[in-house]
Amino acid sequence: MGLSKRNDGRTRLTFIVAGAYPNMSDLTLSALDRRTMLALLGSGAAGALAGCGGGGGDSTPTATAGGGVPEAYRTATGKGGSQRDPEALSTQSAVNYQSEPKDGKQCSGCKYYIPDKNGDGAGACTIVEGTIDPSGYCTSYVAYEGGSTDTDSLAAVEVPDDARCAVCEMKAAKFPEWNAQAVHADETRAFFCTSGCATTYYAVTGQFAETDADIAGLWVRDLNSRELIDGMAAYYALETDVDRLDDPMRVNPAPFEARADAVDYVGESESLTEDDIVELTAFDRELAAQYRGQLLE
Ligand code: SF4
Repeated sequence: MGLSKRNDGRTRLTFIVAGAYPNMSDLTLSALDRRTMLALLGSGAAGALAGCGGGGGDSTPTATAGGGVPEAYRTATGKGGSQRDPEALSTQSAVNYQSEPKDGKQCSGCKYYIPDKNGDGAGACTIVEGTIDPSGYCTSYVAYEGGSTDTDSLAAVEVPDDARCAVCEMKAAKFPEWNAQAVHADETRAFFCTSGCATTYYAVTGQFAETDADIAGLWVRDLNSRELIDGMAAYYALETDVDRLDDPMRVNPAPFEARADAVDYVGESESLTEDDIVELTAFDRELAAQYRGQLLE
């Protein structure tokens, strides 16, 4: 079993069972399937693998306890405002859950969907157990009529304890003075340990993102206040001195909310000038390589 990147940039997991399934030796799984697979393997429920993937099953929803999701989803609220009750969930097979859309309908447009909270690309559902792929579908689908301009769902959030940096995979919450985050238009979230990983993600989104949707918001921490600021409007001093910032990844662009602060910062440097102050749109693959070249494909 291993993780690899698809040509379209999404991570995929390849599950290889040598000799066990001669016609199924290489199964490619989505982010959802990956989490489900790991949960199954972790629980020792190997026999359940034969039945996962939804479809079929009886038509009577079955109540389950817990629902097999990370704690952040356990009693979370869905897009339509209903709260998840872990003691009263349908099984995925009972509602013919599938990981693909049907007739243009998919979970991300359903009022029961709970959008991704930890940056792994999958969400949950207020009425169906387990992790839920935003591109999935089940027979309990009800269109969310609230529109796609729910600004709260596209705002910055507290970094979950278990969220790993989408670029370097360090735990983002371990670096409260440095971490950063982004959200895509489909509400998929990504978290980062530092501004260097955030700007790399912005520059080479296709390699690291779990979605093709546009980035709708990105936030970094002001180097002076360490408060989360709008990374789309921030000014970045292109620091290259690994000793000056003393940050987790050793080299990062230094973000500032105010350009005057960036000017002060480069003014105290022997190697930087005001020409080294850029905005987010300046980050392309070449500039990203200056900070995270070792992680680029
Ligand atoms: S389509 Fe089904 S599984 Fe998906 S969010 Fe709606 S009720 Fe939940």
